[in-house]
Amino acid sequence: MPGYEALGPEELAEVMRVFESGGVLFRHGFDNLRGGNYAVRDFETGFAAKFGVPRALAVTSGTAALRVALAAVGVGKGDSVLIPAFTFVATAEAVIEAGAVPIAVEVDDTLTMDPNALDAACRPDTKAVIVVHMLGVPADLRRISSFCEERGLTLIEDTAWGCGATLDDRLLGTWGRMGTFSFDYAKTLTTGEGGMIIFPDEGDYVRAAAWHDHGHENNPVVPRWEDTRASSGFNYRMMELQGAVGNAQLRKLDAIIDGQRTRHAELREVLESIPGVTWRAEPSGSNPSCDAAVFFTPTPQAARDCRDALLAVGFGTKILPEAVTWHFAKTWTHMPELVAAHGGDLESAFPNSDALLTRAVALPITIAPGAVRPDVIGAAVASALGS
Ligand SMILES: *Cc1c(COP(=O)(O)O)cnc(C)c1O
Repeated sequence: MPGYEALGPEELAEVMRVFESGGVLFRHGFDNLRGGNYAVRDFETGFAAKFGVPRALAVTSGTAALRVALAAVGVGKGDSVLIPAFTFVATAEAVIEAGAVPIAVEVDDTLTMDPNALDAACRPDTKAVIVVHMLGVPADLRRISSFCEERGLTLIEDTAWGCGATLDDRLLGTWGRMGTFSFDYAKTLTTGEGGMIIFPDEGDYVRAAAWHDHGHENNPVVPRWEDTRASSGFNYRMMELQGAVGNAQLRKLDAIIDGQRTRHAELREVLESIPGVTWRAEPSGSNPSCDAAVFFTPTPQAARDCRDALLAVGFGTKILPEAVTWHFAKTWTHMPELVAAHGGDLESAFPNSDALLTRAVALPITIAPGAVRPDVIGAAVASALGS
């Protein structure tokens, strides 16, 4: 969560550099005016290096990143895409915007896509699976990626959560054919609004880069206004001021993750010993980014009681139970494509996810010193659970 907590003089200095070296705010061209400053390009190069992949493409949001990824693999009309039932609406929106149909899959007690539910959810028109590492815990990528391989499905990782987390010492976002990231204001790294896609495959990168830029191939042998093109596209380009902020934020990623893990461990130590608290499960080999601390209570009422008790001591909960409707497919009756994919009945489509999510409490993890008080939070949770 705390990209915004880490904003400081380093980001300001990067932004100033854009203006001091000519004030070119566009990522391409104007070579004579910009004093060699290419902030978005540097952000992409730095991000790719950090994640150990050959290519990264910056875009305007995490939702745009998903949309561009789907375009790059040719998912569209007539296709369906599996997504987890617990995610932000954006994952489903990108699929719908691509002209395809989202199918939501139950989550298990890790609160990520249940690998055992994939087979039943898969249809003959299914082309891709988007996994989401919700609240910073890795999805079971070992099983999900082998399922995708067996069925010839494209795996995309929505890494809006879990930026910097690993499974089997491998960074999230690097397991799939593409990994997407969000830099909105509430995410681990922030550029205000923004997103990134990372690519092991050069061909995917080339298609995505063109598609996010009206089909521009940015052919180096012709000026941009005479540029070559092979497809139409759209405009999801990141601007230089966002890239500048991103360059400073990226250098802080390790410190942010370290801070989150420390705060999370302090909180877990206090909360886990309270009778009635069951900690969220995670796949073996996980090293989560600890974007939030999540536990289950015995009943839905107990989860709501925890929320009330925490609010009373001035501490909000995050997503669960706070904003579950924005994050649980059961409630997305405003998406006719999703409703139809589930036979017109979302209400009873996800009994396992429902039973888990209604009993879950997610606490935001912040890194500012003193912002997370385990003693105060522990006392509030203990009193709510009557222990
Ligand atoms: C935040 C988020 C997104 C979209 O990010 P934006 O940058 O806000 O468009 C996508 N998926 C998930 C799971 C998210 O939490």
